[in-house]
Parts: sequence; structure tokens; C-alpha cells
Amino acid sequence: MNLAQPLPFRFQLASLPPEAEKLRSEVRAFLAGEVQAFAPELRAQSWSGFNPEFSRKLGARGLIGLTWPKQYGGHERTALERFVVTEELLAGGAPVAAHWVADRQSGPLLLKFGTEEQRRRVLPGIARGETYFAIGMSEPDSGSDLASVRTRARKTGDGWRVSGTKLWSSWAHKAQYMIALFRTGEGADQRQLGLTQFLVDMSLPGIKVRPIADLTGHAHFNEVIFDDALLPHDALIGAEGQGWAQVTAELAYERSGPERFLSSMMLLKQLVAAAGPDPSERVAIALGRLTARLHALRKLSLSVATQLQAGANPALEAALVKDVGAVFEQDIPDIAHDLFGQEPSAQALDAGLRVQAQLTQVAPSFSLRGGTREILRGIIARGLGLR
Ligand SMILES: Cc1cc2nc3c(=O)[nH]c(=O)nc-3n(C[C@H](O)[C@H](O)[C@H](O)COP(=O)(O)OP(=O)(O)OC[C@H]3O[C@@H](n4cnc5c(N)ncnc54)[C@H](O)[C@@H]3O)c2cc1C
Repeated sequence: MNLAQPLPFRFQLASLPPEAEKLRSEVRAFLAGEVQAFAPELRAQSWSGFNPEFSRKLGARGLIGLTWPKQYGGHERTALERFVVTEELLAGGAPVAAHWVADRQSGPLLLKFGTEEQRRRVLPGIARGETYFAIGMSEPDSGSDLASVRTRARKTGDGWRVSGTKLWSSWAHKAQYMIALFRTGEGADQRQLGLTQFLVDMSLPGIKVRPIADLTGHAHFNEVIFDDALLPHDALIGAEGQGWAQVTAELAYERSGPERFLSSMMLLKQLVAAAGPDPSERVAIALGRLTARLHALRKLSLSVATQLQAGANPALEAALVKDVGAVFEQDIPDIAHDLFGQEPSAQALDAGLRVQAQLTQVAPSFSLRGGTREILRGIIARGLGLR
């Protein structure tokens, strides 16, 4: 790497416009009435908390599909306003999982590559908080090496015949749709060219969904088996063989938001409460460091949102924020343990220890979901010209 060259990252200090801060106050007031009643450990689930009623209420307030055109049920607001809403939802511990994937990536992907019929069919339901999506990328032998997916879609006179297995598909047991990446091309030169994205109606025959329990005992992700399932011709998204380029765009949506550093916020809040108004020097230093890291991450993430608003593709910057953000999110349960030394337990009487138990068990997944640490660092290294 030539250190005399400027770094390729386009991070610029950005601030939020007044309309975004006004929206923040509205969302905060709404959440105060909605989520305060939930148990702290439920709020600690953050964007893994599935609550259709809450998603519907959010949709009714115009807080889903925020940046989308009005003709599809959207609200034509800015990416910065969406940033603020996301921050408030996560900092408040709102249960957003039902609509999260659809709002963050499936809707935007369909706006970019979908047909008019697909957009009209699904986007208004997403914006109402009633239509949910799963992501069908990973497979039993294809996670990081996504281009090696083997689930095959064969074109026939009736439509597309699909056979194979998707794995770790979050909320596929609740979602009405999945956007799935299937192999449609043959031959060695077709590794990336032979991939295509499909809009899968999860109620079709030949699709079996089997939930998988995680360390907390909850089953949020699934194995999804396609056994000669027949998808209609119009299930195709974008162009046949263009799935790789499209899925790369989708991953940029998936990695770019503040959810990539705010997953442990409820525990950080519990730590501040436990420290009280007169903390020891050791506790004050630890919490001060965490706050400084949070502030820096927030500025980086805001810069990514500003680039999205300007129509740029900040995939490199998003990979960096997700990587540094996951380290931050994962450090918080460890620091909680170091500072207070108590054993976290889901059955503890103390709410802080229940929150800590929740985060301790799920934190390892923060650097797996949405692309592993090694894969993100590979992307960053390529951006820096190191590989
Ligand atoms: C909570 C959670 C939710 C998820 N939800 C979804 C979902 O909704 N839809 C979906 O499609 N997937 C989902 N995933 C799957 C996730 O995207 C994959 O787990 C991830 O991409 C890694 O793939 P893998 O599990 O096959 O691991 P592998 O790819 O087998 O990787 C195993 C280890 O090897 C390392 N490794 C792999 N290749 C390299 C390399 N070239 N260089 C250096 N190190 C390497 C990885 O970093 C990792 O540490 C979810 C995962 C989690 C944990």
C-alpha cells in the first residue's frame, strides 16, 4: 500500500437536518408509550424482537418504507430521516424484526431491480408493516463463499423448478416472501454469471421451513428446503444471470445501517444506570471509552447514510462500519462482566443481569450475520489495495 496516497474511504463529517431531529422527537414520544412496558430483556433483543402488532403500528405512523415513492406506499423522506428513526427504534429496544428485512433491503432491492407488478404487489404491504421478508442467500455449504450456491432453478414451460436447501434464513417461518439467490447457469465459467434472484412466495407447495434454535433457545432462523417447488415465470427479479451484481447491491443495504453497532445498546444503558451518578474511576473510564467509541461509530454511520442520500454506493465504508461496529457490540457484554463481575442469568431477579445474559449469548453472532469479520476485512483490504 502506498501510504502517500489518500485512503479510499469517503467518510465526511455530517450533521442531521432540523426535519430529522423533529422526526426524532416524534418517534421518541411514540416509543415512550409503546415499548416502556416491555421487559428489559425483551427490549435487549433489539432488532431480533418479532412483534407484528408493533410493526403494524409503526406502519400506520408512516415509519416504514420511509424513503420510498408514495405510489408504492412510501413516504418520500430522506435517508437521514430514516437513520434517525432507526437509531430511536434500536436505542429504545423496539421489537422491529417482523418488518426489518423487508424495510431495510427487500423493498429497496425491488425498487431497484423488481418489475412494476412486483413492486405494486408487495411494497405497500411492507410499508403498512404487514408483509415480511426472509433472505435466502446462505446454504449448508455456501456462506462466506456466496457465489458457490447450489440450489438450482430450472426454467420449464410452467415456470422455474427449484430444488436445494437454504440455511440460517431469519424469520422464514413467519415471512410471506423470500428473496432468494439460485443457480440458473451451468458450467465452470458460470460461477457468478449463473446466479439469479427470485421473489419466492413462501406459501407455494414444495417449500418446507424448519426452525433452528440458537443459544438462547429461541428459533429465529431456519433451514428452508425446496423440493421441486414451482415458481411462476414472473418470480424472477431483474435479469437472469445478474444475481451476483444484484445481491452485492442488496448486501450494501444490509450492512449500512446503525443496527450494526447498536445491538447492545440496552446493556450499555443498564451499565450506565448501574454505575449511578458517582461511579468509581475504573467504571467511569470504561463507560467513557465506550461512549467515545459509540460517538465515533455514529459519526461514521451517519456519513454512510449521507452518501446513500446522495445516491452513492458506500459498500466499502459500510463494510468498515459493520466490522468496527460488531467489535463494539461484542465488547459490551465482556466489559459488563469485567466491571460488575456478576454471573449473568436469564432467570436473575436483577433486570441488568437478564439483559446481560441475553446479550452474552447472542453477541458471537454479531460478527457472523450479514458477512463475517474475515470477509469484511477482506473487502476493506481490497479497498485499500492490499489484495
Ligand atoms: C444470527 C444470524 C442470522 C443469519 N441470517 C441469515 C439470513 O437471514 N439469510 C441468510 O442467507 N443467511 C443468514 N445468516 C448466515 C450468515 O450470513 C452466514 O453464517 C455467514 O455468511 C457465514 O457463512 P457460514 O456460516 O457458512 O460460515 P463459513 O463461510 O463456513 O465460514 C466459517 C469461518 O471461516 C471464515 N472464512 C470463510 N471464508 C474465508 C476466507 N476466504 N478468508 C478468511 N476466513 C474465511 C469465516 O469468516 C468464518 O469465521 C445468518 C447468520 C447468523 C449468525
